[in-house]
Amino acid sequence: MSKSLHQDNKLVDTDFDRNHVWHPYSSANPINDNYAVKSASGCEIELTNGQRLIDGMASWWSAIHGYQVAAINQAIHQQLESMSHVMFGGLTHGPATELCRKLVALTPEPLQRVFLSDSGSVSVEVAMKMALQYWHGQRRPQKSRFITVRNGYHGDTFGAMSVCDPVNGMHSLFSDALPQALFLPPPPAGFDAPLDSAWQQEVAQAFELHADNLAAFIIEPVIQGAGGMRFYNPQYLGFIKQLCEQHAVLFIADEIATGFGRSGKMFAVEHAGICPDIMCLGKALTGGTLSLAATLCTNDVAETVCRSAAGVFMHGPTFMGNPLACAIANASIELLLASPWQQRVHAIEQVLTVGLAPCRDIDGVADVRVLGAIGVVEMKQAIDVATLQARVMANGAWIRPFGKLAYVMPPFVISQQQLQQLTDAICKAVEPV
Ligand SMILES: *Cc1c(COP(=O)(O)O)cnc(C)c1O
Repeated sequence: MSKSLHQDNKLVDTDFDRNHVWHPYSSANPINDNYAVKSASGCEIELTNGQRLIDGMASWWSAIHGYQVAAINQAIHQQLESMSHVMFGGLTHGPATELCRKLVALTPEPLQRVFLSDSGSVSVEVAMKMALQYWHGQRRPQKSRFITVRNGYHGDTFGAMSVCDPVNGMHSLFSDALPQALFLPPPPAGFDAPLDSAWQQEVAQAFELHADNLAAFIIEPVIQGAGGMRFYNPQYLGFIKQLCEQHAVLFIADEIATGFGRSGKMFAVEHAGICPDIMCLGKALTGGTLSLAATLCTNDVAETVCRSAAGVFMHGPTFMGNPLACAIANASIELLLASPWQQRVHAIEQVLTVGLAPCRDIDGVADVRVLGAIGVVEMKQAIDVATLQARVMANGAWIRPFGKLAYVMPPFVISQQQLQQLTDAICKAVEPV
C-alpha cells in the first residue's frame, strides 16, 4: 500500500475514512459511508456534493449560535494574536479567569469554584473525584459509591460510564472493570406528570439503606439526554436534594447537555430551584467551536477536598484552561446573554410542538414530546438509522437518530421557516413507506 503524506484539507477521501478513521460508536467495517461535509454556516451544513441540510442536531447540543458566527470567529483571531495555549500549572491568564468569573456569576450562587477540563466526560470524572476526595476530607472514606438513576448518560470514560444506564452503556462488556454504582429506576416520565409516591418511596429507601457508603448522587436535571431523551418533573430534583442533605450525600448535576438555555432556563436545575454541590458543564460552553468543559463546586466542597490526605485536588489536564477555548467560550456566553435566547427557545418549543404533532397519528410512532428547544419522536421499534437519515436528508435536513428515537435540538438562531422544514422532513421520514 502506498502512503502519501500530503492531502489537501478540503478534499474528503471517503475510502480512507472508511478504512482508517473511527467515528462515534462505529464499526471497523461500516456498511454505510459517512457523509462528507464541505462547510457549515448559519443553521446549514453543506456536503461536498453540494447538498445543503438544515441542522437539527446543533452538533450534539453544542452549536447553539449556528456555524461561522462572526463574534466567535473574531474572538478566535484576536486570541491567536496573543497565544493559543500555555500550560495552566503555575500560570494563569485572562481568558480563563474571565470565563470562570462568568460561570460563577451565571450559575447558582453557592457554586464558587471552577475546574476547567477538555471534555464533558472528563468534567464528570472530575466531579466524581471531587466527591471521593470530599469524603476523604471528612474522614469518611467508606463513602465511595455513586448512586444514580437508570436511563442516564454521563460520558464514555470509565467513571462516567459507571453511572450511565447499564443497558444502554453496555455494562456487560465492561463489568469487571467498572465501579459498581447503585441504580434507581428512572424518574417517572413527563415534565408535567404528577409525582409518583411509589417511586419516591423506593428512592428514599435506597438512600436510607446505603447512605453510609454513598459519596454522591449524579443526575441530568429534568432532561435525560443520550440515555433516552426523557423529560421528568423537576420537583423530583428537590425531593432528591433533600434526601442528599438528610443522608450526607453530595448532589452532582450533569448540565452538559441541558446547560446554556436548552431547556428554557439557563440551567435546568433552575426549574427546580435547587443548587447542586457540584455541576458539570460542556457541549454548548464554546457554542460548538472547540472542546471545553467545566466542573463547578461550592466553597465547602473545595475546602473539604483539600483537607484530604493529598492536600490538593488530584487532577490536572495538559490542556487545562486552554486560552483559545476559553476566549471562544467567553464570546459564546456574551453572545448568548446579549440575545433574546429565552424568547427564541420558547418560540422553537412552540414550532416543534405544532410541527411534530402530526407524527402522533402515524403508525409506528409511540410518543411525541417537546421541551424547550428539544423535540423527540419516539418510535415503537428500533429505527433503521441509515434509512431514516437518508429520508430526512432527501427533505433537506440533518438528524442523527438512535435506538427508537428521532429527535432534534437545533441551534437557537434557527428561523421559523427552517424549523418548519425540519419538522416536515421528520414527519415525512417517519411515515411508513
Ligand atoms: C455529551 C454528554 C456528556 C459527555 O460529554 P463529552 O464531551 O462527549 O465527553 C456527559 N454528560 C451528558 C449529559 C452529555 O450529554
